[in-house]
Amino acid sequence: MLYMDYAATAPMYDEVIGVMTEVMKSHFGNPSSLHKLGLEAEQLVSRSRETIANALCCDPNEIRFTSGGTESNNLAIRGAAYRYRSRGNHLITSSIEHASVYETFRKLEEEGFQVTYLPVDATGQIRLSDLEQALTNETILVSVMHVNNEVGRIQPIEAIGAMLRDRPKTLFHVDAVQAIGKLPVDPKRHGIDLMSFAAHKLRGPKGIGFLYCRRGVELQPLLFGGGQEEGLRSGTENVPAVVGMAKAVRMAVQEQPSFAAHTARLRSRLTEGIRQIPELLLNGSNRPEDTAPHIVHFSFPGMKSEVLVHALEQHGIYVSTRSACSSGAEKPSRVLSAMGADPAVAVSGIRLSYSLQQTEDDADRFCRVLKQLVEELKPAMAGKNERR
Ligand SMILES: *Cc1c(COP(=O)(O)O)cnc(C)c1O
Repeated sequence: MLYMDYAATAPMYDEVIGVMTEVMKSHFGNPSSLHKLGLEAEQLVSRSRETIANALCCDPNEIRFTSGGTESNNLAIRGAAYRYRSRGNHLITSSIEHASVYETFRKLEEEGFQVTYLPVDATGQIRLSDLEQALTNETILVSVMHVNNEVGRIQPIEAIGAMLRDRPKTLFHVDAVQAIGKLPVDPKRHGIDLMSFAAHKLRGPKGIGFLYCRRGVELQPLLFGGGQEEGLRSGTENVPAVVGMAKAVRMAVQEQPSFAAHTARLRSRLTEGIRQIPELLLNGSNRPEDTAPHIVHFSFPGMKSEVLVHALEQHGIYVSTRSACSSGAEKPSRVLSAMGADPAVAVSGIRLSYSLQQTEDDADRFCRVLKQLVEELKPAMAGKNERR
C-alpha cells in the first residue's frame, strides 16, 4: 500500500498511541475533580499546554484546546466577529479557505456581517494590494490561511501581519492546520492574533485541536457550561487526546526541518514524473518556494478525479480529489475555480500528500502506475471529447 493522503489525515506516531494508551488506562480522572485523580489529570493537561506553548514560542495561557481544526476556525471567526461587532461589521477572508472557514463566513454573511472574499492569482495566492484596498475602518477581522489544503499554496501571512500591525482594531486569524510541522510557524513573530491547529494532520489523534489566542484578545464562546478553558470552551477536557496531541506537536515541530527537506525531494521526483505525461497538468505555482513541500496537485483535464482515485486504489495507492471534507460531490473545485482553472481542469484535480514515511522509490512507483493508468483511461476520454 502507498498512502499519499496525509493532508486528509495522517497515521499516528507509535509514541503518541503509547502515551495515550497509558493515560486512558492509568489517568482517567476528570481534571475538574478535587481529589488526587483529578489533580493528576489536570497536571497532564497543563503540562501538555506548556509543551505546545514551547513549540509555538508563546505563553501556555494563549493555548485553548478544541475538538479540532473546524472548531478552532469557528471559534476564532465567530468568536471574534460577535465579540467585536460593536467596533465594525466588516470581515475579510480569501476565496480559497478550507470549508470550515469559508462556510463560517457564509453563515456570518447570512447573519448580517459584510464579508469580502479576496480573489487569488493563477498560482492560488491572494494579492496584498487587494487586501489593502478591502480594508476599511469597519474591518474587525482578516482571516487568511497559511497553507492551502488543496494545492499547497503558501499565503503571505507575514506580510499581512505586518500590514495589520498598525490597525489594532483589526484582528488577524490564520488557519495553520496544513502549516505546522511543514513550515516554521511562529504566531508572535508574524503578528497573528488567532491561529488554528488540528492534531490529526500532524500524526496526532483525531477530534482534538487547539487555538492560539493572543493575550488580550477576547472571544465570545461557542459552548457554554462548566467554564473549562478559562470559560472559552466548556466541556470536560479530552485528556488522552490532549496529551497525545502535545506529543505529536513536539515531535512534528522537532522534525520539521528534515520533513521539509525530505518531502521537497519527493516533490521534485513526483512533479518530474507528472511533467513527462503530456495529458496531465500541474496546478499551482511552479516555484518550489511558493508551495508547502508535502502537497502536489495535478489535473487530468476531462477525466473526473473520482475515476483516477479509484483506478489508483486498484494499485494500492491512496490519494484525494481535493479536501476530504468536500469530496464525493462532483462539483468543480472551489479552489481551482478561484485560481481561474477552466471547468474541465477544476473537476479533474488530484492531490498527492506525503510525509517522512514515503521514499523516492515510492514516488517513482507512483509515477509509473500513473503513466500506465493515463494510457488506459485516455481512449475513454477521447470518445467523450469528440462529443463536446
Ligand atoms: C483538515 C483541515 C481543517 C479541519 O480540521 P479538522 O480537525 O478535520 O476539523 C481545517 N483547515 C485546514 C486547512 C485543514 O486542512
